[in-house]
Amino acid sequence: MNVSVPNRTEPFPREEGWRDVLVIGGGASGVLFAANLLRQDTDLRVTVIEGRHLLGCGIAYSTTDSDHLLNTRVHNMSAFPDDGEHFLRWLRGREDGTRYGPESFVGRATYGAYLSCLLAPWTGSGRLVCLKANCVAISERGTGVKVTLDDGAVLKGAYAVLATGHVLPKPDPSGLVSGAWEAAAPPPPGEAVMIIGTGLSMVDQVLSLERAGHRGPIVAISRRGLLPRSHGHGKPMRIDRSDIPLGAPLSRMLAWLRGLVGEAEDQGATWRDALDGIRPWVSTIWQNMSVDQRGRFLRHAASWWEVHRHRIPPASADRLAEATAAGRLRVLRAAFLRAERGEDGGIRAVIRPRGARLEEVIPVGRIIDCRGIRNDPERNASPIIAGILAEGAGRVDPLRIGLDVTDEGQLIGTKGEVSERLFALGPVSRATFWEITAIPDIRVQAGRMAGFIAAKESAGRESADRA
Ligand SMILES: Cc1cc2nc3c(=O)[nH]c(=O)nc-3n(C[C@H](O)[C@H](O)[C@H](O)COP(=O)(O)OP(=O)(O)OC[C@H]3O[C@@H](n4cnc5c(N)ncnc54)[C@H](O)[C@@H]3O)c2cc1C
Repeated sequence: MNVSVPNRTEPFPREEGWRDVLVIGGGASGVLFAANLLRQDTDLRVTVIEGRHLLGCGIAYSTTDSDHLLNTRVHNMSAFPDDGEHFLRWLRGREDGTRYGPESFVGRATYGAYLSCLLAPWTGSGRLVCLKANCVAISERGTGVKVTLDDGAVLKGAYAVLATGHVLPKPDPSGLVSGAWEAAAPPPPGEAVMIIGTGLSMVDQVLSLERAGHRGPIVAISRRGLLPRSHGHGKPMRIDRSDIPLGAPLSRMLAWLRGLVGEAEDQGATWRDALDGIRPWVSTIWQNMSVDQRGRFLRHAASWWEVHRHRIPPASADRLAEATAAGRLRVLRAAFLRAERGEDGGIRAVIRPRGARLEEVIPVGRIIDCRGIRNDPERNASPIIAGILAEGAGRVDPLRIGLDVTDEGQLIGTKGEVSERLFALGPVSRATFWEITAIPDIRVQAGRMAGFIAAKESAGRESADRA
């Protein structure tokens, strides 16, 4: 592959057989992008390539447990930023539609069904192809991109969009620790279960265990023992860019945030309204932080931010409180060190409680890793990401939390060159935007990227026609 640096803006010839935009990954991000592009006034064609899940579902919406609720209200989960009621209308069109309103927290499986049929209007239009396959390699040529599938087939296009989603933890080689998203039979009802992590995935596991009638003790551990906060009712505070101390040291930023919360409470509002008020500015705040400041935020404030920003529905919070009050769930501040097989063949979880010098061994029937998605896209790279990094067509950010992209989502190569054909959206682009893992943010990114590529395409054609 020759990455001609930097001027790859010359018009490219339209060759027959090119599939215009190849979307790698058919989870929520891939489908949101495809729908936002197909809505555009362009005759670009889209091929969505999905390796594992139902279209649109990915990890988050493949759950079948009806207790797994969206952690965002209906009015904020429409696929289209400019049509806030699109999801609500779709819900109202269902048999049980009357039970939902804009403030509802709907089951994630229901949202998966919504995303799975989001592209339906374009099936048979000649502009959309959906393929069940894994992409194992991608290469860029001056006039387009080439994607290789796991069966050796090669697709060509003018652009490719990486919507490969979350970096999943590799399965535990010892087999003693189960993954949060691995299909597994529920543990025997009386057995002790240890959950590593106390975030959103832990909530999922506890709700599923409760639903399965689990009666054994559940211990959830994390260094700080922080639990996701519950949603409440309120109204986001109005915050202007000029109010924000952009680029200020982390301590100053956190002091400003505390001040904002105080101001909200003085006005009879809550900390939620303050946090929801800065939500539209999170990427701007992140982009104005130095790498050192971002690193300090990740080390000292990110887990606090996560549990206050990514809240759970009150119904889930009540279930968690009930299990805790009944003594079925215990949250411990501790570090998970390792899992061992005991002489009796049972599993032993070895932990170090916070502040303790000695290790503690807890016999359990099951250990579930709910530490969530992994950082470092290189250490946990899929073949396609590993190939991009090896070729220098993409690079990992200094804090190793994602691939470097421009505001438009264009991949940035090792020499700092900006790709004209390779794009990335959703969690894989977290390094540039930080807050790009939830639908309300991903749909905006998808809409913007679709508009950018459509405009780029028509500009390319105009200059080709003029040439
Ligand atoms: C458990 C959980 C619950 C969540 N709940 C919410 C919520 O309630 N509200 C909210 O706004 N956000 C929620 N999120 C955040 C979530 O990140 C986004 O909502 C969204 O699902 C991200 O979608 P994605 O497509 O980027 O990633 P993923 O869901 O990871 O999908 C990526 C897809 O790409 C496919 N893929 C990857 N590599 C390849 C390849 N090489 N070839 C072919 N296919 C490939 C995978 O098979 C997968 O289907 C949740 C996340 C998780 C993990």
